[in-house]
Amino acid sequence: MVSSFIAGVEEGRVLRYVGSVTQSRASDIKPVSDNNANVLYQHGTLAQLVPGLFEGTTTIGQLLAHGDTGIGTGEGMDGELIILDSVAYKVSKSGLAQAVPPDFMVPFANIHHAAFQYQCERRDIGLEDLNRKIVAANGRANTFFSVIVRGTFSFIKTRAVIKQHRPYPTLEEVADHQAVFLRHDVEGTMLGYFSPVMFNGAAVAGFHEHFLSDDRTIGGHVLDAALDRGKVYSQVFDTLMQHLPVDNPQYRAHDFSHDNIVQVIEKAE
Ligand SMILES: [Zn+2]
Repeated sequence: MVSSFIAGVEEGRVLRYVGSVTQSRASDIKPVSDNNANVLYQHGTLAQLVPGLFEGTTTIGQLLAHGDTGIGTGEGMDGELIILDSVAYKVSKSGLAQAVPPDFMVPFANIHHAAFQYQCERRDIGLEDLNRKIVAANGRANTFFSVIVRGTFSFIKTRAVIKQHRPYPTLEEVADHQAVFLRHDVEGTMLGYFSPVMFNGAAVAGFHEHFLSDDRTIGGHVLDAALDRGKVYSQVFDTLMQHLPVDNPQYRAHDFSHDNIVQVIEKAE
């Protein structure tokens, strides 16, 4: 059933759609190369964060040249970032979201040009189940894709890492310096990226999801959630553009061969 741009108009502030919005088969969700919407741009890797390479190596302004929608963290693991409609919000230890300026420094981020396609509506479903169904509906476990879930969450549990200072601790040590938030009956947007298991290390295999409530009073890295009622949108990428901080002295000098990259990422993320 084709419902044209109705959903796009309704939520146009956050999302842009390509073509008509259909409630249809998963095979219809394909990479779209208009406006580079088939490209996921990643600055830095999660592996870099494992030994504590938290120095900012790009800016929000530079990232926004590669998209309008994304997630990341600030220099020194300064909060959790969510970028919607070209505005980057940072959720820090208060749980509140604040827009950050273009010169805000970032060690790690994913960003892309939004061209989400409507997948389905889901009701009364836990995060794990929801994520499993999204992968199954996309039928693409070996492909990078982004997902947006907009609606009412019966609960959402998020965390925000607290900004660290030099000399930086390791990612494992940072786990002791985070604020955890729990909120019931909240309307908002969950934005996530799915990475294939073969890219574990460069990214976290599976989903990496951040949240922002419509009233901006809670957000962060999603630990758990239950969706009361919401719409699911997907965007599949056929290209990963991996940008590395090649001039950063710490990155150039670090020997990653002794870091327990995969185990630490699985535990921390
Ligand atoms: Zn995160």
